[in-house]
Amino acid sequence: MTVRTRIAPSPTGFLHLGTARTALFSWAVARKLGGQFVLRIEDTDLERNQQAAVDAIIESLQWLGITYNEGPIFQTQRLARYTEVLDAMLGDGRAYRCYATQDELTALRESQREAGLKPRYDGRWRPENALGKTPPEGIKPVIRFRNPDTGDVVWQDLVKGEICISNTELDDLVLARQDGIPTYNFAVVVDDIDMRMTHVIRGDDHVNNTPRQINLYRALGATVPHFGHVPMILGSDGKKLSKRHGAVSVMQWQEDGFLPETMLNGLARLGWAHGDEEIFSAKQFIEWFDLGQVAGSPAQFDLAKFHFLNNHYLKQAENARLARLLPPFLARRGVQLNAASVPLEPVIALLKDRANTLADLAYASLMFYWPLGTPLPKNKPENENEAEPPTRDALKVLHINAENRAAIIALREAFAALPAWTRESINAAIKAQVAASGLKMPKLAIPVRVLVVGMAQTPSIDAVLELLGQQRVVAAMADA
Ligand code: GLU
Repeated sequence: MTVRTRIAPSPTGFLHLGTARTALFSWAVARKLGGQFVLRIEDTDLERNQQAAVDAIIESLQWLGITYNEGPIFQTQRLARYTEVLDAMLGDGRAYRCYATQDELTALRESQREAGLKPRYDGRWRPENALGKTPPEGIKPVIRFRNPDTGDVVWQDLVKGEICISNTELDDLVLARQDGIPTYNFAVVVDDIDMRMTHVIRGDDHVNNTPRQINLYRALGATVPHFGHVPMILGSDGKKLSKRHGAVSVMQWQEDGFLPETMLNGLARLGWAHGDEEIFSAKQFIEWFDLGQVAGSPAQFDLAKFHFLNNHYLKQAENARLARLLPPFLARRGVQLNAASVPLEPVIALLKDRANTLADLAYASLMFYWPLGTPLPKNKPENENEAEPPTRDALKVLHINAENRAAIIALREAFAALPAWTRESINAAIKAQVAASGLKMPKLAIPVRVLVVGMAQTPSIDAVLELLGQQRVVAAMADA
């Protein structure tokens, strides 16, 4: 039998990291076993649906490289099918109409609570209890499932092991609301049956729904799929990962300058491990992944690991690819590249080793693109602890003085006279000036940096100067 798995997000927000990780696990199971992966959009909550959220889900999966064989399938396009199943169930008593009002149900719950009982629907409109009762006027019924009264529901959860729930714990589930819209628990079962799902992999916030759903599978005469409930992701403070912890939507991570291979790798490692392997490709992940190795307890999110991975993948990435990705990050700083700009690829090659994100890389590259003399912006303006970068003028006062000024001027003349502008020739000119002046290398190199890029620290000076070009360097050194 072909393995079929799915991800079934509700389009009420953007694709959350937790959902992305569930999608990743579900996709890996299908890919590893030569199966199929389906995207289903659970959009029956008509009030909360947003087209933008559907687009973001599709875009996020695409960006992560999580490809699906079928979908997106929208539940709202399957309403006739749910009605068909409901009618069949109503026809033979597997389901029934319940006319209990909200007030009635609230009163029932309260009396149960007062009596020290667990609140649950009491089956007052089950066919045998409704005999002779006339449905009240003006009340639209909900449709309930007639849950078995006795016995246990047992399943071998692929992540959590055996789970057993007594039917006495479960009351008669609402299958369709008053407006006829199916509930999650009903639609999900009809869909998973119709779409021939063999494995249902989802967050463990659904563990409580699973015994109810298994009863529905049985009532519908369908094979019960394998279930695997993946523990949630916790923030560094041990609380459920949420906006308080920073970016939780996949698109936000993209905007913050993370590469998709980082996200795939980092998310896969949350709650799952293959020995000590920290860095792996999508291909390796699929090869190694085993739902049985997913930890039963929550995974803790660690931003530093994502930075580490992203730095690794930035170093590995083709510079041409990064040069395509970087311009929007520069544009956010107000930098538009043009034909006269220093070419981006060699700048990236020079700087990417030290960058954790594309945003960091764009910031570092401002040394080549920021108008000289204009104060540099802060890297993260929202961070109050980050000091304003020192201005070029302030750095000049600090680093250029009577001791080195003449040598700087002489070096500028030597630069101006160089017939070829290469790292070697630049280096040779600096070394010659160091020797002639008797100054230590930094006494010359730091002021040159300050003059040409307005910063006291840069990667290797000959590389920076070569990229800037002879004319720009000589011009910038004029006001030593
Ligand atoms: N729409 C549900 C959710 O987003 C799907 C759960 C499931 O996979 O069954 O949580």
